[in-house]
Amino acid sequence: MDKEQRLAAGESAAARQKGDAAEAETAQQGNIAQRGDTAQREDSPEKAGLSQLIRDSRKIVVKIGSNTLSNDRGEVNREAMHNIVEQLMEWIDCGKRIIVVSSGAGICGVGAINKWQRKGDMNYKQALCAIGQVELMMAYKELFKEYDCHVAQMLLTRGDFDDHSRNLHIRNTLFTLVDEGVVPIVNENDSVSVDEIKIGDNDTLSALTANLWGADLLILLSDIDGVYDSNPKENPQAKLISQVTDVDRLKQEISMGATNRFGTGGIATKIEAARKVNEFGIPMALLNGKKYDILRKAADGRETGTVFYG
Ligand code: ADP
Repeated sequence: MDKEQRLAAGESAAARQKGDAAEAETAQQGNIAQRGDTAQREDSPEKAGLSQLIRDSRKIVVKIGSNTLSNDRGEVNREAMHNIVEQLMEWIDCGKRIIVVSSGAGICGVGAINKWQRKGDMNYKQALCAIGQVELMMAYKELFKEYDCHVAQMLLTRGDFDDHSRNLHIRNTLFTLVDEGVVPIVNENDSVSVDEIKIGDNDTLSALTANLWGADLLILLSDIDGVYDSNPKENPQAKLISQVTDVDRLKQEISMGATNRFGTGGIATKIEAARKVNEFGIPMALLNGKKYDILRKAADGRETGTVFYG
């Protein structure tokens, strides 16, 4: 059903994320299940396993990395963003509840002001993120609006997760937003976070968010198909590891590259994010957000990634 049809049917995004559209949910779940069943017959057990996991998960945190949001020139990739939003809305339409954790404020800041990108000092980096965060949210707002869906900004710091009462408030706000059909877009509050109190990367932030919300699944979208036995960008022979049940063993068996070009993240923080959510019984999937329709394809059993079952 396209946007016009949905609007004509009087269906609101709030009702969709709220789960009021139970009929749509059943129908769409059936749809995914059907497509997934086909995939199970035709594809590898790994693809079928991931597809089943997505179908079984109702509350999903999706973390979108800087690499997914930017093109090779380091600019914001609106097309990629649009494709991800479109897929998230499809999931919301079939009854899933979604929280987005999004990087990209720095890139958006550079794009908006077109200077300071080479300035190394903290003040400028934080200033760029402050400018870029507005641009990032404007982009999400416009894209989700196409589907008649509201977004909300949640800027968090490490201290928010360490403090019991703040913890509770974040949790309540997230629950209220999602219950009311709004998609929360979470990011670290870079302009108040100095190194000592920083979460430091959105992989960790998304894991903390998934645990706090009690998600069924955390999905990290990056620019690689999953975890490899060595950095696939340096070693073309690197082999993809599709399932992980022991994070410590994985770390002994693979070689990990350093942080990314923004000086954060890298594969190490993704593996640690998996450990964090797995401890709470939440699985994590690392998928290639650079691939068009990756969420649809993973749900259909047409694409794989690395799934951490803990
Ligand atoms: P994002 O911005 O999407 O969070 P990062 O750049 O932080 O992504 O981390 C993903 C990068 O980690 C990949 O592009 C890849 O080059 C690098 N990497 C290093 N070692 C590995 C490995 N063993 N398996 C997969 N990726 C790896």
